[in-house]
Amino acid sequence: MTGAVSAAKHEFKAEIKQLLDILVHSLYTNKEVFLRELVSNASDALEKARFESLRGSEAADADLPLEIRITFDRDKKLLVVSDTGIGMSREELMENIGTIAKSGSAEFLKKAGEDKGGLESLVGKFGVGFYSVFMAAREVVIRTRSIRPGEPAVEWRSDGLGTYEITDIDQEIKRGTQVVVHLKEDAEEFADNHRVTAIIKKHSNFISYPIFVEDERVNTIPAIWREPKSSVKKEQYEEFYKFLTFDSEAPMATLHVSVDAPVQFSSLLFIPRQASDLPGFGKDRYGLDLYVRRVLIERGKKELIPEYLGFACGVVDSEDLPLNVAREALQENALLHKMSSVLTRQLLSYLRKMATEEKERYLDFWNTHGRLFKLGYSDYANQEKYAELVRFNSSRFEDAKGLVSFDEYIERVRPEQKDIYYVFGPSREAVALNPHMEIFRAKGIEVLFLFDHLDEFAMESVRKYKDFEFKSVEHVDPASLEKFETLEAPKETEPLGEEDKAVFAAFLARIKDILGERVTEARVSGRLSESPCCLVNPNDGMTSSMQKILQIVSKDTSIPKKVFEVNQNHVLIRNLFAIYKANSADDFMGAAVEQLFESSLLLEGYLKDPHEMVSRMQDILNKSSGWYREVTKG
Ligand code: ADP
Ligand code: MG
Repeated sequence: MTGAVSAAKHEFKAEIKQLLDILVHSLYTNKEVFLRELVSNASDALEKARFESLRGSEAADADLPLEIRITFDRDKKLLVVSDTGIGMSREELMENIGTIAKSGSAEFLKKAGEDKGGLESLVGKFGVGFYSVFMAAREVVIRTRSIRPGEPAVEWRSDGLGTYEITDIDQEIKRGTQVVVHLKEDAEEFADNHRVTAIIKKHSNFISYPIFVEDERVNTIPAIWREPKSSVKKEQYEEFYKFLTFDSEAPMATLHVSVDAPVQFSSLLFIPRQASDLPGFGKDRYGLDLYVRRVLIERGKKELIPEYLGFACGVVDSEDLPLNVAREALQENALLHKMSSVLTRQLLSYLRKMATEEKERYLDFWNTHGRLFKLGYSDYANQEKYAELVRFNSSRFEDAKGLVSFDEYIERVRPEQKDIYYVFGPSREAVALNPHMEIFRAKGIEVLFLFDHLDEFAMESVRKYKDFEFKSVEHVDPASLEKFETLEAPKETEPLGEEDKAVFAAFLARIKDILGERVTEARVSGRLSESPCCLVNPNDGMTSSMQKILQIVSKDTSIPKKVFEVNQNHVLIRNLFAIYKANSADDFMGAAVEQLFESSLLLEGYLKDPHEMVSRMQDILNKSSGWYREVTKG
């Protein structure tokens, strides 16, 4: 004890001892957060002082500028954080610093008691309040004077071990609080301009009161997200975006949101012009920076935005979240969840507006970020809005660049058309060769092209748009398309006579015989006009590409059994039919049917061993080249 006016020694309450014990002994890696805590307390104190003066209360040192100053003494291993805020009276000092219930630390302590393992990350992510200073301090002295005129200045002093001392100070000090940190040996790094400036820039850059480190203003970028939209200039948004992302280009879009219910927050979101890494399945680089009252709490917080909108970056700042809240606290998660759903809705309506009013810009967005956006099919709460925003290439376009929305598709459907048709394929060329497309081409019905497996999952998950069901061309029963007129007349082939029709049934039975258990059935196709044959799924539960994915997942290498459909009017089939009629057991016919079947498998990606097919083909070429020579007398 010193010989001060009235000194008194006090024991820390048991819970503070417990907190101190945890802080002093178990935490090293996140030491620097103590500065964030002190600065945030200083900022709160300034905010309260401002509030008092706005209320017109009488204030001590009324014309002091509201600011935070950080100084240090390298030799004495000393760091001082001062503010000209509301200050504290002796009672307030006892009450606020001496009682854990007053500080957010209580929540931390509760959590810490439950889970010792996660402590380090708890401290890093959420503040533990004033006492975190003892991670770096061997002694702390607080000198403070209340804003209320006439209150004496007081000093608080503690080594954080078990007791603290409060003394009245007789010398005149100005209103506000000064926290003097006597650094521990392993924390001397904090008596350093560079180190402290970097920490302030990282955690406290957007505090609205000036922060000076050794007389130099450190926080220069205002927290523009907290300003009214009308007062922020485009250049300011841009400057902030570049500061945030290190992007050299301006953002593609800026979205400034301020919300009061169901939870208060401001947010500033940007859509970059370039997509960052594709999400793949190791997707973890997304999220928004979470601030509480301008103090950075966590970067890239995933809970604030769903993954499919993860192309957006930016900040969210809330008054409703306590600075010192344990990370897993339920209440906090509920708040984050609410913010995330508000932001999701805001972003989706922003995109919708862009899609209707600025088509070109939207297509630009789609081409850059569409691949990620597509993942949104699983956001059931917003599926309708999601579906409005997705785009596809389709049979209507000459190349893969054209894009159509479901709404545009619907505008052009045939009368009585109740489905939205789609086909999956790795490329336009592959899709063009898909035999299932022939009937759609013949009838001029638009088909959406899906080049990405994700699109198929999306279709299966969303199922319909407005009154239109999504239907894969593979699953369409040709009979259901009869009502639509055929635009392109099919190539003329003599229709089969009555007698031949009966023989054709036997011909099909022979084909089934040749292919045996490999197919479920051989039948006449109603969907083909150009190809001689194709394979069709007997049950229309799944498209063949989906089936393939599932097979890969389950390491199933079997070839699924399908229906073999033949085009009765195709010249090749007619030739085989003629051969069959001449000799129902002809070898050539057998080889040709095998070849056609394997070609279909090859098109669908099922043929694994090409040896047999290649040698059969050479055999057929041997024969046909011989016949060709004979015919042409070559
Ligand atoms: P929290 O900031 O979450 O309330 P802290 O442990 O950081 O918890 O601080 C405890 C209390 O101490 C604060 O609520 C405030 O009343 C008081 N306090 C701390 N620092 C200052 C300061 N610089 N000026 C005035 N009061 C302060
Ligand atoms: Mg605090």
